[in-house]
Amino acid sequence: MNLVTLPLETPSPAYICPFDQACSYLEQAAKELRMEQGLLEVLSHPRKVVTVSIPVKLDNGQVQVLAGHRVQHCDVLGPYKGGTRYHPAVTLREVSALAMLMTWKCALVGIPYGGAKGGIALDPARYSVGELERITRRYTSELIKDIGPSVDIPAPDIGTSAREMAWMMDTYSMNVGHAVPGVVTGKPISIGGSRGREMATGRGVMIIVREALADRGKTLAGTRVVIQGFGNVGGAAASLLHEAGAVVMAVSDVSGGIYNPNGLDIPALKAYAAQNHRSIVGFPGSKSITNTELLALPCDVLIPAALENQITEDNVHEVQAEIVAEAANGPVTLMADLALEARGITVLPDILTNAGGVVVSYLEWVQGLSYVFWDEERVNREMEGLMVHAYHQVTKESKTRQVPLRLAAYTLGVGRVAQALTDRGLYP
Ligand code: GLU
Repeated sequence: MNLVTLPLETPSPAYICPFDQACSYLEQAAKELRMEQGLLEVLSHPRKVVTVSIPVKLDNGQVQVLAGHRVQHCDVLGPYKGGTRYHPAVTLREVSALAMLMTWKCALVGIPYGGAKGGIALDPARYSVGELERITRRYTSELIKDIGPSVDIPAPDIGTSAREMAWMMDTYSMNVGHAVPGVVTGKPISIGGSRGREMATGRGVMIIVREALADRGKTLAGTRVVIQGFGNVGGAAASLLHEAGAVVMAVSDVSGGIYNPNGLDIPALKAYAAQNHRSIVGFPGSKSITNTELLALPCDVLIPAALENQITEDNVHEVQAEIVAEAANGPVTLMADLALEARGITVLPDILTNAGGVVVSYLEWVQGLSYVFWDEERVNREMEGLMVHAYHQVTKESKTRQVPLRLAAYTLGVGRVAQALTDRGLYP
């Protein structure tokens, strides 16, 4: 029996291991910080790795066993925090890399969390709502001892949303015997979710791009933007950038890409996608383009907002943007990052650019703990304050150390965790 789908762990020759890449960035930061080898060793390893098998009875009566992971990288600064990904390409290596990224991201934006990530290797589109609910509930109950509002707090990621968070919260609450809304963030408002959480990652992307343009004496109005991905992150970023007057020339989703050099009407596109089985292709007035063509479009800001490893050694020379804003986690590979830097293209790093989601997760957790809920304007204002502050810290660090923004973001995030670890000391 294929109990745990470990074949996914056998990489193809072209495979770029996200965990190795995450460790390389950590090593660069450690070198820049002149970190002790022992400290680097500790931070290079996740503290806890949990893999569970999830047997699920499908609607047709058959039983299938899926592999689920939760990787807890580091909890020196506070409870573990990070999303839960449902995607066919989920592997333990990917989840481990994303958990590490969460540690630096939370430290960078100054929220008292450690880093974690979860995931199940499945394509949610191929399961019914009932099947997804059973999968989510079984996954949660397998992790019952590893999660909790002061232990590890899952949230949505690719393939999951407020719906899955409600199932997780309910399963956890039923198991412990009372309601525990704080066990997840990104849940529906009816059970203690925060206003503004759904748009938060996209809003954060818009804020960071706006700040980066301001540093160049520019504004969002008239800026030509290309976005890969039209989901929770890319779709929200597209709406907010369009609202701010940016010309969103092209977007893509799993069905393909569309392009209009004069700008796409994003509200009309959202309405079209809603009517068209969520597909954007065929939107009136747009031209169909491939993913490869989209990444190569001349523009001011290119926003990869889908999966990792999209801009690689193979296509980096085709990028014709002034700024690449990493709305996804790890969309630019290590080699491509170096090539972009050599060409003078600014990369706004993922741990800064997409931190808006976890920032509002934190604000949701804070509201829940204090039993006081804010209006959306307050949530957005608090989030904006934290994001703008983090952006200015990163640009300052980059100037002081004479390093690119990514390394600056890493030295800040990694440095804070290393300091906390040093202050706490190594147990026993
Ligand atoms: N999945 C999101 C991320 O990668 C949000 C995590 C959270 O809110 O905990 O940052």
